[in-house]
Amino acid sequence: MTQNVPNPDVASRDYAATLDSQDEVAPFRERFHTRQDQIYMDGNSLGLLSRDAEDAVYAALKQWKTLGIDGWMAADPQWFTLGEQLGEMTAEMVGAYPDEVVVTGTTTVNQHQLVSTFYRPDGQRRKIIATALDFPSDIYALQSQILLRGGDPETDLVRVESRDGRTIDEEDLIAAMTEDVALAVLPSVLYRSGQLFNIGRLTRAAHDAGILIGFDCAHSAGAVPHELTASGVDFAYWCNYKYLNSGPGSVGALYVNRQHHGTRPGLSGWWGYNKERQFDMVHEWESAPAAGAWQISTVPLLSTAPLIGSLKIFREAGMDRIRKKSLKQTEYMMNVMEASGLLSPPYGYVIGTPTEPERRGGHVAIEHVDAARIARALKQRGIIPDFREPNVVRLAPIALYTRYVDVWDVVQALKGIIDTGEYLEMDEGRNIVA
Ligand SMILES: *Cc1c(COP(=O)(O)O)cnc(C)c1O
Repeated sequence: MTQNVPNPDVASRDYAATLDSQDEVAPFRERFHTRQDQIYMDGNSLGLLSRDAEDAVYAALKQWKTLGIDGWMAADPQWFTLGEQLGEMTAEMVGAYPDEVVVTGTTTVNQHQLVSTFYRPDGQRRKIIATALDFPSDIYALQSQILLRGGDPETDLVRVESRDGRTIDEEDLIAAMTEDVALAVLPSVLYRSGQLFNIGRLTRAAHDAGILIGFDCAHSAGAVPHELTASGVDFAYWCNYKYLNSGPGSVGALYVNRQHHGTRPGLSGWWGYNKERQFDMVHEWESAPAAGAWQISTVPLLSTAPLIGSLKIFREAGMDRIRKKSLKQTEYMMNVMEASGLLSPPYGYVIGTPTEPERRGGHVAIEHVDAARIARALKQRGIIPDFREPNVVRLAPIALYTRYVDVWDVVQALKGIIDTGEYLEMDEGRNIVA
């Protein structure tokens, strides 16, 4: 890392302030509700509220108040096609055609929907590839999908092991793509370490082996630009409440490659019916000719509305500028940690995130034997991190609202907490919501 240090003064707050003054994404911070007394580093878990998202929710309420049922067609944006419209607005960010993305469901529900469609166990080909470091919900969903098809998760679910406990070797994923595998469902970014996979490479390898492949992009959507269609990905899904700042439990999104449009969804519902004829109310199924077919139920207006405002910000800022700043901030954080001596005794912090930019998502995983107590001590100092079992503090500088001086202050707090020993006063256990 040392050779990347841009300037010998990297460890000074003045240098951080200089970076802020040169930052063209900085003005977007004004659009968010940030707190004076707080540095929020948990936007990878729950993004902050923007004024745009807030206004969009009030506008939706007002239209419900004044339009009633007529809002389905007369509201702006029209409720009837809201999932499709927001899908179109998201498409560019993920490298998709406008009709390949729809805003609907939630992460795990969308995963169920897509796996129920694309997991087609056939003869000897019945396995699903995942990783040993996956987010648990993804694994629970895959286990139950295998059970629904009469399979046995013990043998049919392959969780590719990690060699170092933090990352998964792409070679190992590719080696697992054997003739008995029907489907691969992989994260784009590992939620704990922040490792970013090469989606194009894994997709090519899967297709070469006759395997369909889908990605959980919960930790990359809104942080990393994607080329889902150019990569040939079969399907993907993500939530909108992490980097996309649409509010707790807000409606998620899914992507289905055009090649699969017209395939009957595993879980059909009237909202996925051909929109032109949805209100004919006939019982013969007719898929919408787009990713919209994978919707099940009526769009939940109030938990979708924040995204209307949030996506405005993303379209103005541009995914490339957001990614560029995010990489610069995570690199800066790691550089300042090293320059401040935090990676050596007595501090003993270890960076668990790959340092190569092409292998790094939007957060930095900092490992420490006392991670739970350090996370608590940070919180006591007004810094909001999160803690992930067993030893990881995750810190996410969010390009749209985190300043370089915030990153600098957080690193100094990591140092100060050890210098003063204040973390030793904290409880060791974690909270239920960690
Ligand atoms: C956040 C996250 C989820 C959350 O699932 P919900 O269904 O939205 O509760 C699932 N998978 C991954 C990888 C996540 O990061």
